[in-house]
Amino acid sequence: MNQEVRVRFAPSPTGALHIGGVRTALYNYLFAKQNNGKFILRIEDTDQTRFVEGSEEYIQEALNWLRIQPDEGILEGGEYGPYKQSERKEHYLKYAQQLIEEDKAYYAFDTPEELDAMRERLKEAKVANPVYDNITRMSMKNSLTLSEEEVNAKMEAGEPYVIRIKVPRKEEVRLNDMVRGWVLVNTANIDDKILVKSDGMPTYHLANVVDDHLMKITHVIRGEEWLPSAPLHVLLYQFLGWEDTMPRFAHLPLLLKPDGNGKLSKRDADKKGYPVFPMDWTEPLTGEFSMGFREAGYLPDALVNFLALLGWNPGTEQEIFSIEELVEAFSIERINKAGAKFDIEKAQWFNQQYIKSKSNKELSAYLIEELKTEGIGCSQEKAEAISQLLRERITFPKELWLSGTYFFQDPESYDEKVANKKWKDEAIAFLKGFKEKINTHSELTGEQAHKLLNETSEETGIGLGKVMQALRLALTGQGGGPDLMGVIEIVGKDAVIRRIDKAFSSLGS
Ligand code: GLU
Repeated sequence: MNQEVRVRFAPSPTGALHIGGVRTALYNYLFAKQNNGKFILRIEDTDQTRFVEGSEEYIQEALNWLRIQPDEGILEGGEYGPYKQSERKEHYLKYAQQLIEEDKAYYAFDTPEELDAMRERLKEAKVANPVYDNITRMSMKNSLTLSEEEVNAKMEAGEPYVIRIKVPRKEEVRLNDMVRGWVLVNTANIDDKILVKSDGMPTYHLANVVDDHLMKITHVIRGEEWLPSAPLHVLLYQFLGWEDTMPRFAHLPLLLKPDGNGKLSKRDADKKGYPVFPMDWTEPLTGEFSMGFREAGYLPDALVNFLALLGWNPGTEQEIFSIEELVEAFSIERINKAGAKFDIEKAQWFNQQYIKSKSNKELSAYLIEELKTEGIGCSQEKAEAISQLLRERITFPKELWLSGTYFFQDPESYDEKVANKKWKDEAIAFLKGFKEKINTHSELTGEQAHKLLNETSEETGIGLGKVMQALRLALTGQGGGPDLMGVIEIVGKDAVIRRIDKAFSSLGS
């Protein structure tokens, strides 16, 4: 019988979800759906000192916005709950106890000062990596070096202690990562990591392994920064007797800065003005604000498409994938080992493609929404006509308003360069003639405007090529933009006349 695929996304609620975390969630989701498996959201909140108010809700909302919907999780529930580690303490302690009883873990009573002194001693002895390990533990205060009576006495006296894993001296730990292939580590290079802290809470390592086991996780798909921890996790699976059901690992490549120079960082992103969080986030402690992809105007499907290709390739030229198509095409084998450049221009390109694929009706909804916040009313018909004109020219929906304010307001100013170059006597004479012609009409469609422009050109002998930009300047204040007949049709006869007059008085007649 084939085992059901079960994967998890296991963020810690320590702040806004980074875009790399979103990609991890997405790959887990795609893999689960492709295999008719389950995608689980588990909140890893055992480090209470790092807990940040609101981050749990943020994670849920971000996944929800991107349609990366968990099958099991803190909101969805499920058979393997609770899905929040702070509510699962007894599980971890039980297994920590088991490890102690089997001599695979031990109590350690060393104070912070004693630990510092140990590190200093090792540094002086020129030990490259001064850690608590299978050699140094023998000179420390723990249940391996103290007698049973001493240990009991300390416990009874309420002395703080931690539980450490007892890493074997020189053994090879191996794991076959689905992305990186075989990883071999000698236990001489693994330190006796803390499994249970002095506050009685498990560390990430213990909680992560115990939960992956109890939640029957079959594949651990996570960021490359966790690769160094993987051998320790393998050791824990062995120690707990869970080797047979140990999940397979897949460590995803790092996200790099757009120029490929170093890890993608929030600092760098802030400097260059692009987001690294899915949604707006204000850090509760510092009040520091970061803009999100959502608020910057990225469409969820475009962002998902962009993220999917950040570290994975379909092996074909295809770039546009709906989430359903991604579920079909995704494969762990095609995840790249090398870091993935976070090419923000590519993200914008995806957004453009998704905007182009929307109907005018869909686009008009964005515009109407935006106009509402400006207190401007607009008919459905007009909003759709504007969407039609601008759809090929925009990257973000809010540009329907931002680059099309002239559909609603007479220009307040004029592009100076264009005015200097194009607002010439010829243009003025032409526009006067054109305006007179319009005045004789009760309405003005784009088609009629076109006809009247040609007539004016014939009568004045002034070529249209010389005056069209001046007309655009008068109507929109800008030197470039969408089809001008379309603009005229939308703003209508009265506005055209009024704006030509306004340009005469502002730029000269
Ligand atoms: N809680 C870890 C994190 O915040 C999870 C790592 C893992 O997936 O094992 O990234």
